[in-house]
Amino acid sequence: MAFESLTDKLQNVFKNLRGKGRLTEEDVKTALKEVKMALLEADVNFRVVKQFVKSVEARAIGADVMNGLNPGQMVIKIVNEEMTALMGSETTEIAMQPGKSTTVIMMCGLQGAGKTTTAAKLAGKFKLKGKKPLLVACDIYRPAAIEQLEINAKKQNVDAFSMGTKNKPLDIAKAGMEHAQKNGNNVVIIDTAGRLHIDEEMMQELQEIKENITVHQTLLVVDAMTGQDAVNVAKEFDEKVGVDGVILSKMDGDTRGGAALSIKAVTGKPILYVGMGEKLSDLEQFYPDRMAGRILG
Ligand code: GDP
Repeated sequence: MAFESLTDKLQNVFKNLRGKGRLTEEDVKTALKEVKMALLEADVNFRVVKQFVKSVEARAIGADVMNGLNPGQMVIKIVNEEMTALMGSETTEIAMQPGKSTTVIMMCGLQGAGKTTTAAKLAGKFKLKGKKPLLVACDIYRPAAIEQLEINAKKQNVDAFSMGTKNKPLDIAKAGMEHAQKNGNNVVIIDTAGRLHIDEEMMQELQEIKENITVHQTLLVVDAMTGQDAVNVAKEFDEKVGVDGVILSKMDGDTRGGAALSIKAVTGKPILYVGMGEKLSDLEQFYPDRMAGRILG
């Protein structure tokens, strides 16, 4: 993750502001116009940018300058706070079932987004927290996905359940639930099948699993490098299947930051984790304030 271009552009805007002892309304408006351009070039959703600039402007014009800050620093502080709010303000944890109850998590996303890898990364996190996760391989369209899940489960030293490619995803998920119960797994992570594009069949498969199995958390994996496409995918999955949280994969390769800055504002769903590489340890919790800090440089 290196949003160099966005960070550079924002820093330039702020450099001009910092130098000024007093800021006129015109100064603020000019600066925010540049902020707007920088965000649009970073592939942040257009409506999100408009709303963001409006919020910053409303607070910055006529704001009382805090002790110890000059007017320019005050604007930067407001941009930082609004950017943090845009990404959800607080870190959101995956909601777990209380006590000894089993938490069932369904992973979804387009093919290649990083679902199977992320499922194994998450299983590792749960294991570290003392849980006993089970990875259930329901991606019957991609035989390699089943093998990949099993190999990754071994690497993470967690349990995996698969039934090959001949059964329906729902039946595999049901059998996986039974297996978890017998085996004492208190977190079940169902890896579902993606498609290259959003299609009805995929959505129906996911709906069917949710209608027949108590899924506590539906987590969507989207590829950060696809920018606004990732945001649109998130919106559509949420509308059709219902999503509780988003995991933004491949943030290590994202140079723009548009998806990270737009997803929460567009879908209302928090980013829970970000994928930072191909290794199974490369999954980081998402902190909106730290992310805003990184972007602003
Ligand atoms: P799926 O089709 O959604 O299950 O996607 P996979 O889990 O098979 O991942 C597709 C490719 O993306 C694989 O080569 C992964 O190693 C890679 N990948 C997944 N997450 C990340 C990440 O956070 N960073 C990078 N650089 N690669 C990732």
